[in-house]
Amino acid sequence: MTRSFEESRKVFAEAVDLMPGGVNSPVRAFKAVKQEPIVMEKGHGAIITDVDGNDYIDYVLSWGPLIIGHTHPDVVAAIQRVATTGTSFGASTRIENELAKEVIRRVPSVEMIRMVSSGTEATMSAIRAARGFTGRDKILKFEGSYHGHGDSLLIKAGSGVATLGLPDSPGVPMSIAQNTLTVPYNNLEAVQQVFEAFGEEIAAVIVEPVAGNMGCVPPLPGFLEGLRDLTKKAGSLLIFDEVMTGFRVGYHSAQGYYGVTPDLTCLGKVIGGGLPVGAFGGRRDIMERIAPAGPIYQAGTLSGNPLAMTAGLETIQHLTEDSYKHFEKLGDRLEAGFREAAETYNIPHTVNRAGSMIGYFLTNEKVIDFDTAKTSDLELFAEYYGLMAQEGIFLPPSQFEGVFVSTAHTEQHIDQTIAAFQKVFKQLRR
Ligand code: PMP
Repeated sequence: MTRSFEESRKVFAEAVDLMPGGVNSPVRAFKAVKQEPIVMEKGHGAIITDVDGNDYIDYVLSWGPLIIGHTHPDVVAAIQRVATTGTSFGASTRIENELAKEVIRRVPSVEMIRMVSSGTEATMSAIRAARGFTGRDKILKFEGSYHGHGDSLLIKAGSGVATLGLPDSPGVPMSIAQNTLTVPYNNLEAVQQVFEAFGEEIAAVIVEPVAGNMGCVPPLPGFLEGLRDLTKKAGSLLIFDEVMTGFRVGYHSAQGYYGVTPDLTCLGKVIGGGLPVGAFGGRRDIMERIAPAGPIYQAGTLSGNPLAMTAGLETIQHLTEDSYKHFEKLGDRLEAGFREAAETYNIPHTVNRAGSMIGYFLTNEKVIDFDTAKTSDLELFAEYYGLMAQEGIFLPPSQFEGVFVSTAHTEQHIDQTIAAFQKVFKQLRR
């Protein structure tokens, strides 16, 4: 039976008059998959339900945060408990210490931390910290990496920017953009050349340790280690943007998984458990330069918000070493099923994996950077996307995003998804 999206259409038609493009964040408009957005109503575990009552197995998970699934009973109970005692104080609370301690315990580079309310704030603040600490202005980022929408970072960015084909955004002053150098991901030689030319001026290199905003692109062996060496030699800082990879790629985040420790780390998504949280942290001598301990200014009315801290803490406390084994197992199964279906129906494909981060591309090229990611067949992806939604599989509406699983996903969910791949690929090759 064909699913109806009548209610979604109605809600979105109203939204178009109320918000730019009908949405509060660009990727939600489904432009890359050339269809009207699906409007969501509720979620339980691995299942999400739209306003027409259609159920889906959810591989978006609010773009990463819901790593233990939607409305986990312990998270809901904790939020309800805290909501009755105060939603915000704008003053210190005990719960901030608890989340801080847990992050410091698990993320190797983090000796001190500052909570903010989004990933964008985390990266903007980390860049300011790096500039303030080194007294240098330039930063180096990688093409196709997305680090939020701060002025310094919206240069050759991935995610929605890649999807919409906006190379740079109007409104970002040239004077700021000039301080952002960009090179291809996984290209250590290009980084070396930039350091030879500008080494003394570079405050920091900011990198997604597994790129997740051009699809999933893991670091080639030696890439992260090379960045560590080059930054150290030049007196620049190395910033890992682990907004997506933090607590996702492994128990100790991507830095634990790859054994490379940056100077500063940006976090978000999972550490808020579905409520708005970001954070940046790292070496004590750098963090002690942040106001009011030091002169580098950074602040936030709702930073360390008790509801958000509670949801985050409850979420990461549910993540054990076994959770990551579960993700790997599901990832193996999903990857094998996807490959088999694609091979059977001769669909171009490449699958990349890093722990529980999974990315597949509709291309036969090996994907190691943004240029190779862009060889994917985007027309085919759009068609595939709509058919998968019809089969009850909710995927990120862009080729340049990874898919996520949660502790609530089971082998049965994966098998249902593989059956959908088979059916959809067959239709695509009709
Ligand atoms: N950095 C990375 C690596 C991200 O994936 C994102 C969001 N997808 C951000 C920063 C920005 O986070 P937010 O959307 O919470 O501002």
